[in-house]
Amino acid sequence: MVTYAVGFARPDRWSRGNVTEDSNPWHAVEAHRPAAELDGEVELAVCGAIVQIWGSQKWERVGSGRTACPDCRRVTAVTKPLTSSSR
Ligand SMILES: [Zn+2]
Repeated sequence: MVTYAVGFARPDRWSRGNVTEDSNPWHAVEAHRPAAELDGEVELAVCGAIVQIWGSQKWERVGSGRTACPDCRRVTAVTKPLTSSSR
């Protein structure tokens, strides 16, 4: 089972005058180490976005909110629960 750290979309990635993407700034990052250890690191989110790890946040909580990236939510399936592919 994979755990996810929370990443925040980096402002320097947004082009000037186009900050409309910031309504979903939270992304999930596959964490191979505790999120606290990854705090501040720049990583690739599961959806492909470049994000900075926010070690004090929990994806289980952030991922169920409206400010989480829809792609990341789908990949991590935080909201589940129509899982039938249990192998
Ligand atoms: Zn994402």
